[in-house]
Amino acid sequence: MHPVVNHLIQLQELALIRDEQKVAAQGQHLQQLDASIKSMTGKLPTDTRIMYERLTKRDPIVVSAISDSHCSVCGMRLAISFIQSVRQAREVLACPNCARMLYYPESRVRTVTKAQRRTAPRKVGISRFSSHALMIPRLAATTKDEAIHEIGMKLAEEGFVDNGEKLIEEALRREAILSTAVEHGMAFPHVRGVEGGGLALALGVSENGIDFGSATKGNKTRFIFFLAIPVAASAFYLKLLAGLTETFMNPDNRKALLVPQDPEALWKVLVKVTRSTIK
Ligand SMILES: [Zn+2]
Repeated sequence: MHPVVNHLIQLQELALIRDEQKVAAQGQHLQQLDASIKSMTGKLPTDTRIMYERLTKRDPIVVSAISDSHCSVCGMRLAISFIQSVRQAREVLACPNCARMLYYPESRVRTVTKAQRRTAPRKVGISRFSSHALMIPRLAATTKDEAIHEIGMKLAEEGFVDNGEKLIEEALRREAILSTAVEHGMAFPHVRGVEGGGLALALGVSENGIDFGSATKGNKTRFIFFLAIPVAASAFYLKLLAGLTETFMNPDNRKALLVPQDPEALWKVLVKVTRSTIK
């Protein structure tokens, strides 16, 4: 990968973390994130910086992975020779359609799209990207790393992603930048850039709570949502985060989610409590 593209990916991640903090953490850490973004932007070569600043006016997604010969954000099909040039990474190349800067991912986690029967009823709400098979009502994990491992492996075992170990590794890397724990006992570890299918969400509940990092001021984390997010679903992911935060502000909903002992029951409660907040 071109070093400038690598720098841009980190910069993009910081801008997206900034948006997450605004939505789910009442704007905590914004000053610190702004300072990091400013300093990283200043280190870009002038021509890239101009391009970056123009792109971020429109959208925080400025870098796009090539996935199955297409720009994974806008879906533009790219010529083989062009893909080769991106892969060789001698220069920074932009998508001819959406102008985002492209890179060729060497090894990545991919979501596995499950073929839905045409006769199956259209899914709504949280059912569009999760399922009873992705619910863990009683996590065995007692630490943050164990919890991410346990839920991440669930996403792989149930066939939602193709590489559980890689997913976990990337989620831990994201967590190291800034804890995803927020108020009301929630955390949302995630991996972005998981292409191939749609967004996938798994939930693990810890009855005794887990220490998920400094952001929670000593409060234990009980509800851990692990998300695999295609880049194109980034804006939707923020809406989802806002919906979950709204759900968890209600103490009755939090109480209800601690009760179920089996995945089916937890799934039923999750569907019920998110009915009005996740469309
Ligand atoms: Zn594009």
